[in-house]
Amino acid sequence: MKKISAVFVVDLTKIEGEGDFQCPQCGAIISPEDETETTYIIQDVKMKANDQLEELRIKCISCESVIHLTGFTPL
Ligand SMILES: [Zn+2]
Repeated sequence: MKKISAVFVVDLTKIEGEGDFQCPQCGAIISPEDETETTYIIQDVKMKANDQLEELRIKCISCESVIHLTGFTPL
């Protein structure tokens, strides 16, 4: 049977701290600041018209879940 990976949505405005969160599936710590792609791979980036980040689609490397990150706030 083919493994179907789960899809989750994580709203960054509901996360305490510096934006790190646990993968809802396997609990791996995912840090949006981490660009080394050791814990996740960025699959897609959605920008708003004003060049602001709207949504990131990432994939957890450990469990292959797809996570949509929303709720980016302007700096
Ligand atoms: Zn995971």
